[in-house]
Amino acid sequence: VKRVYAFGKDAEGNNVTEGNKDMKYILGGKGANLAEMAVIGLPVPPGFTITCQTCMEYANADNTWPEGALDEIEQYRLDLERRIGKKIGDSEDPLLVSVRSGAPMSMPGMMDTVLNLGLNDQSINGLIKHTENPRFSWDSYRRFIQMFSNVVMGLDGDLFENAINAKKIVRGVKSDADLTAEDLQELVEEFKNIFSENVSAEEYPALVVDGRVTFPQDPDTQLRLAIEAVFGSWNNPRATLYRKQNKIADDLGTAVNVQTMVFGNKGETSATGVAFTRNPANGEKEFYGDYLVNAQGEDVVAGIRNTSPIAELKHVEGLQEAGAELEEVFVTLENHYRDMCDIEFTIEQGKLWMLQTRVGKRTAAAALHIAIEMVKEGLITKEEAVCRVDPEQLDQLLHPQFDKSAEYDVLARGLNASPGAAVGEAVFSAADAVAAEAEGRKCVLVRWETNPDDLAGMIAAEGILTSHGGKTSHAAVIARGMGAPCVCGVEALKIDAEKKEAVVAGTDVVIREGDMISIDGTTGIVVLGAVELVMPELSGDLDVILEWADEFRRLGVRANADNPADAELSRSFGAEGIGLDRTEHMFLGDRKQIIQTFILNEDEAVREAAVNDLFEAQTGDFYGMFKAMDGLPVIVRLLDPPLHEFLESPRALDVEIAKLEAAGGDAEVIAAKRKLMEQIDGMSEANPMLGLRGCRLGIVYPILPVMQVRAIATATAQLKKEGLDPKPEVMIPLVSTVKELEKLRKVAVDTIAEVAAEAGVELDIPVGTMIELPRAAVTADEIATQADFFSFGTNDLTQTTFGFSRDDVEAEFVPQYLAEKLLPYNPFATIDPGVAKLVKMGVELGREGNPDLVCGVCGEHGGDPDSVKTFHKIGLDYVSCSPYRVPLARLAAAQAAL
Ligand code: PEP
Ligand code: MG
Repeated sequence: VKRVYAFGKDAEGNNVTEGNKDMKYILGGKGANLAEMAVIGLPVPPGFTITCQTCMEYANADNTWPEGALDEIEQYRLDLERRIGKKIGDSEDPLLVSVRSGAPMSMPGMMDTVLNLGLNDQSINGLIKHTENPRFSWDSYRRFIQMFSNVVMGLDGDLFENAINAKKIVRGVKSDADLTAEDLQELVEEFKNIFSENVSAEEYPALVVDGRVTFPQDPDTQLRLAIEAVFGSWNNPRATLYRKQNKIADDLGTAVNVQTMVFGNKGETSATGVAFTRNPANGEKEFYGDYLVNAQGEDVVAGIRNTSPIAELKHVEGLQEAGAELEEVFVTLENHYRDMCDIEFTIEQGKLWMLQTRVGKRTAAAALHIAIEMVKEGLITKEEAVCRVDPEQLDQLLHPQFDKSAEYDVLARGLNASPGAAVGEAVFSAADAVAAEAEGRKCVLVRWETNPDDLAGMIAAEGILTSHGGKTSHAAVIARGMGAPCVCGVEALKIDAEKKEAVVAGTDVVIREGDMISIDGTTGIVVLGAVELVMPELSGDLDVILEWADEFRRLGVRANADNPADAELSRSFGAEGIGLDRTEHMFLGDRKQIIQTFILNEDEAVREAAVNDLFEAQTGDFYGMFKAMDGLPVIVRLLDPPLHEFLESPRALDVEIAKLEAAGGDAEVIAAKRKLMEQIDGMSEANPMLGLRGCRLGIVYPILPVMQVRAIATATAQLKKEGLDPKPEVMIPLVSTVKELEKLRKVAVDTIAEVAAEAGVELDIPVGTMIELPRAAVTADEIATQADFFSFGTNDLTQTTFGFSRDDVEAEFVPQYLAEKLLPYNPFATIDPGVAKLVKMGVELGREGNPDLVCGVCGEHGGDPDSVKTFHKIGLDYVSCSPYRVPLARLAAAQAAL
């Protein structure tokens, strides 16, 4: 195997580059792009790249070198010396190199770099002779020892900084720049002593000379140790953590680039800088970046000195030529990569050198703007423009966020359940949230987990924070639907709702009612105190890209919404219908009393009266929904949740009774409460999500589906009479056998026919079902004979396929599963291949049973870009997601089709 690749020119000026930009999995991003720049004739300091695979082999063999690798590196080192006409360690005119990491995916600042390698007690003389600049030379040597000791040997950087500070005090000077060549020469001696005193002889026997550890003088040893350190940095804790957070595979390894040093710190005609070919914040077409005169690269990044804007470079005495050339390079790079690039460069005594380039990171707003501009410039096609924007990134544009320049400490982390940021006083009950809002105070609702009772509080609060529950928990689903920021499953929060406080485990912080807190639902961060928020500005660019996306996508995009306001919002985001109207969300507030009466009362007449009240209310609800979505389909799902969700919790009642008793409350009231508690207790189920819910409710209480379908049909008839075009569809949830559907379909069809006859209006209302149980998916051919459409409820389907409780496992053990790679990702966020297989089977069998079957997805996965791609492949007709995810889904659907 080939382990080393050359880049740059030979002594005669011929290009001898062996790699190119498509080899980033071999040469890393930096190595591949250095090769590419050399190939297209840009000035790249010559060097060579050691492959990522060598890094992994070295790591997997317990940090030992694969056979032949060191020889190959030696060959390329000798070759580089011939190409440059200088030798490493030479005492006349030495070659100095940099040794830099460069992984396939950008991991900024996570791994190691060593500069000025090749300096020793001989070559320092050569450097002085050649540069005629002793101060620069000694400074380079001291930087090298410092960096080598810190990065390669792991010594504490403070040892060296302290020595520099001591020297400054002795000399009575303030800045490093005031130290003389002699001072720096003395520092080099001191640094070598620090090295000897702090590096262990046992660990590095090869460095022992005359019984003492010595700073390595042999350039080959320096180079080998530096490469080993860069390899080793692939697995340092911060790089490992960065990969985990950015979903980068651990087995890619990093390449190592050994490159001729060029110096931006050789006086006033030297400089170094970083730049973007366009503005990465807003996408404007302008040169963007900074440079420093007479400085090395890390000085720019470290921000010690004030940098100057890149546009000024070509006007600076002694740098004009290089500055003008740089602007040409910008154009060359953009035309070549056909994208915005970021670059690092150095000017050494007037000569421009390119040290790095890559496709530049940008904000969502910039991504949109650049993509559109590049289409106008004829650089890329519309299809490419649509693929250039990351759907997930669009979230940045639709929700407020933490101000990028704000400083804060992260108090705790949880799941990033619903994007956007919120700031407010902590409140621990829905009632307190409502009260705070009424008084004009902003609040964040902090709960163990939310339940339908909390809705008013969730609406009143700026954001929602829970210590339990995952990405499909009640809090997460509702918050996304409302577009409210939500961080959930923050296990470190030990909430005492009674005391109205939360202790943060592992800290001595207690969040009390009224304390300001900030949450960022985009990242899952919780902060004590108020972080500055900013609202991203919406531009027309988003609409342009989404309209282009609509030209290319095949999948339809609908929204999950259950009130007219959300329906209208999703319509404005481009939703082509409502894929899921969860009717239980219409049974809150004063409606709850009515359904409770129905559930708890044994008197038939009372129950019927309650159902009548519900009918009136629901007819109004549906009227509003269908009107908001006039001309577009609205899938209304019949009541789904276990009935106890509408009742008080027996535990809470128990507490209430105890309190009443202690306070000597009214005996009759207490008796009534106790009876109620016993009744509710009697209805409790061990596994409510697998109990009396979904279509089973309609079979046990047929009066409910009749009422709901009647309300749907009545609202439809009324709108039709008004000349509108309502398009409702009736959906029956949680079906597992065709018989269930057959029975309930008949109830629906008969009810619709009755209303049509009564109203004298023709009603054509499709009846379909949700596929959210494995049995339904595998018998979809039978079920489809009774269905006009299928909607895959992938939340429940994931829950029942894995046997994972969707309300518990994301906080309980999924994090550990992810850490141990027992799961590649959270299956409640991105569709799991096993669950997707059931969806595919359901679609294929379903279309066998009914060739006209329309198939969609309405679980949370409908708004997840990766899942959207899977659903496109499976051949679904549409996805349905929360209103705020509609734009993402439109874009992801187009990318899936391209
Ligand atoms: C589902 O199960 O995927 C679904 C959409 O229904 P719900 O989340 O309401 O159970
Ligand atoms: Mg469901």
